[in-house]
Amino acid sequence: MPQNPHQNALKQLEDVAKKIKLDKEIFEILSKPQRIIMMQIPVKMDSGKIQIFEAYRVEHNNARGPYKGGIRYFPQVDLNEVKALAHWMSLKCAVTGIPMGGGKGGITVDPHKLSSGELERLSRGFARAAADFLGPEKDVPAPDVYTNSQIMDWMVDEYKKTKEKQLKRKLKKSEYLPTLTGKSLGNGGSKGRDIATAQGGVFVLDEALKALKKKKGTVAIQGFGNAGYVAAKLLHDKGFKIVAVSDSRKALYCADGLDPDKVMKYKEKFGTVGLCDCKASGKKTCKSGSSCNCQGCKYIPQNKILTLDVDVLIPAALENQITKANANKVKADIILELANGPTTPEADVILRRKKITAIPDILANAGGVTVSYFEWYQNMKNEKWSEDKVARKLSPLMRQSFREVYKLAKKYKTDLRTGAGILAVKRLEEAIKKQS
Ligand code: GLU
Repeated sequence: MPQNPHQNALKQLEDVAKKIKLDKEIFEILSKPQRIIMMQIPVKMDSGKIQIFEAYRVEHNNARGPYKGGIRYFPQVDLNEVKALAHWMSLKCAVTGIPMGGGKGGITVDPHKLSSGELERLSRGFARAAADFLGPEKDVPAPDVYTNSQIMDWMVDEYKKTKEKQLKRKLKKSEYLPTLTGKSLGNGGSKGRDIATAQGGVFVLDEALKALKKKKGTVAIQGFGNAGYVAAKLLHDKGFKIVAVSDSRKALYCADGLDPDKVMKYKEKFGTVGLCDCKASGKKTCKSGSSCNCQGCKYIPQNKILTLDVDVLIPAALENQITKANANKVKADIILELANGPTTPEADVILRRKKITAIPDILANAGGVTVSYFEWYQNMKNEKWSEDKVARKLSPLMRQSFREVYKLAKKYKTDLRTGAGILAVKRLEEAIKKQS
């Protein structure tokens, strides 16, 4: 039976509630989303036939601000997953203190199987179906797994058209642009949004190393998408040794470390992580000095990426990767969760026993939504910040959040996940009580 991510989110909430003796009513409120919207999106396929896609938007809590969170396009998307992801968004926004609530969307689809035209029609179809409950002050989606700035651009355009038709007037920029974040730079996107999830994680990791008095070392990364690849690149540039990366097809291990840009070049050409053009061309070894580098690199079984003997393990793919089945074999000192929900509660118990520090998703990957908030803010105020300004604002926020979480974890004699949960739930409680 696959783990239900929403049950995992609730178990984590129970751990927090026990520690702080949370009011029953607040627990009840936080354990359920405020609203669940299910949509059927009909899309005219290139064949001329209509195909119907299942879509969800879960609005978890808006006591601290408009619902905020990405839209995921993935074949296994279901309601329980989207509920969990929306729940974690409320907590994530509260951990960094940005004035946003939590929501999440998903469409059950493999976007790689759609043509560009079909993808555009699906995305526009979603924005049309969702136009009534989206809006800068209501609910503000963003990219997530397998969605990107192009998809956000289509959605914002369709949202504008739909609203203008309904309202029979032109919308001001501030009425439609901040409705979605993670847009392209030419279309109201923020500088630094594309690297924000990884960058925020790197700031947090830096603070964690200081607090734990550890040095930078070796890193293994599961997932080579926006979060995983950028994290690999930023950490490589800072002097960490990236010894392994993986994607949905393969896992590559290089004892001497790898250059993430070279791996990305290979992936663009051959569709998966790798370094050696010579392998693709059938040669066994590379000539020294040539651009490829086979020495010390090999493919390993994908599940091995999580149990390598490294200093830092970064799950940057999907939920339920570190489970009770493999947590005992995890050898990393620190786990930096760039994915949402990669560790199950049962695995957390084992990690705690093994004294492995898991920096939880709601803290480690909060840089993405934080820069989304900066984008929303810039759109609202008609401002454009430089990349430098974005990083200058993100860095202290992430570092401070880590320090607060660390302090709470110590105070309550618990792990960082429960520490982050305590910080978030207390902030949510305060906002909920103010409302009612
Ligand atoms: N999808 C990202 C997350 O899980 C970003 C959400 C956003 O930018 O609103 O945090």
